[in-house]
Amino acid sequence: MQKEQLYGRRVLINQAQPAPFGLVGEKTMVIRGSVVICRRCNARLKKTDVALPDGSCYCPVCLNLGRVTSHDYFYHLEEPNHFSPLPDPCSWQGQLSPLQEVVAREVARGMAEHHHRLLWAVTGAGKTEMIFLALTEALKRGERVAIASPRVDVCLELYPRLQAAFKKVPIALLHGKNPQPYQYRQLTICTTHQLLRFYHAFDNLVIDEVDAFPFASDPGLHFAASQAIKEDGGLLYLTATPSKELLERVRQKKLKVSYLPQRFHGHPLPQIQTVLVGRWRKKLNKGVLPRQTKTWLVTRIKRHQEFLLFVPHVVDLVPIARALKNELGAVKFMTVHASDPDRLDKVQAMRDHQLAFLVTTTILERGVTFPGIDVGVLGADSEIFSTAALVQIAGRVGRSLERPGGAVTFWIQENSRRIEEARRQIAEMNRRARKLK
Ligand SMILES: [Zn+2]
Repeated sequence: MQKEQLYGRRVLINQAQPAPFGLVGEKTMVIRGSVVICRRCNARLKKTDVALPDGSCYCPVCLNLGRVTSHDYFYHLEEPNHFSPLPDPCSWQGQLSPLQEVVAREVARGMAEHHHRLLWAVTGAGKTEMIFLALTEALKRGERVAIASPRVDVCLELYPRLQAAFKKVPIALLHGKNPQPYQYRQLTICTTHQLLRFYHAFDNLVIDEVDAFPFASDPGLHFAASQAIKEDGGLLYLTATPSKELLERVRQKKLKVSYLPQRFHGHPLPQIQTVLVGRWRKKLNKGVLPRQTKTWLVTRIKRHQEFLLFVPHVVDLVPIARALKNELGAVKFMTVHASDPDRLDKVQAMRDHQLAFLVTTTILERGVTFPGIDVGVLGADSEIFSTAALVQIAGRVGRSLERPGGAVTFWIQENSRRIEEARRQIAEMNRRARKLK
């Protein structure tokens, strides 16, 4: 092991192994009477629930990062920012719009002062490009920076974009499915789970799609983010659909905010169209599609107009695939869901235009761009689709300058409050964007 493997990290080492570099290890768990606290993920556990036969305890909560037991130790070296100076790290040749430019400068100034800030920008506003200036300046200052997201798909989309924009900067990509070993890098892209392995590492941390599952509802991941940054480290949250909690922190002035209600190309967000289709699951089980859905699909397939077709649950994928084959014949499509082993390849096939369309669950609701697509959601009134998810799904459409509009069609059994709220939010963003002109 090299020393830099420990910079800003909490490396778990089994009790049987020698301490690296003569360091004194830190206990992995705190035991207070009948309560055990994991120092990696901050989970509070009942001792009797997590006791092992050898008398030690383990943490089931962060198990997927390697098992922490109370007999093991964490080893850590303070982050020294051992990076070669980068006088000109950014190789991006693009141009920001005047509105993007204003936000980019505000974010860069905030990052220089290690602010905790929310960048609230509509879907397709160009959030990533808007943080390039801030990243460039942070790298020039010799800071260690990470961009984390709750979604692995978001990390996988960010990585090539960041590599292209910062060609001279080696970037580490860390997620559960990456077989590459950990590397000490000035710039890291990782899932929010991976933050649990860092300790006071980053001068600035960006969390993209901060309101997405599982980050939003997981206090362990919030703890991870707060531990991963240095004590005076900056935090930048990015999203198009901030949660009530985030907006409340903005209202209480605990979080600064930068706001952009307009897309990069200046065109409005496409509005949601709803169509009542009755009991669609019953139809699928008979191998047929709702009539209106079939018409929508056929029209697009004939025009070679690519689209995403969302369904509420994994169990809906088999019946819809059967009905699609039955009704549409030999059209090339695939279905994908969160634990699909071929998930990454299927998304890539859609990117490479090898498919007419992709049928998906909510995993592709955000953070992914397929330029020029339409979107249909069968069963958009299902409870699985939150208002934020519906706004994000609608936001997949109209993201290219060549096709700034497009169709967002929701087939529903009955009207839902969540859809009404999503429509209201989209209309409100468009109203605010018009006022900017
Ligand atoms: Zn844990």
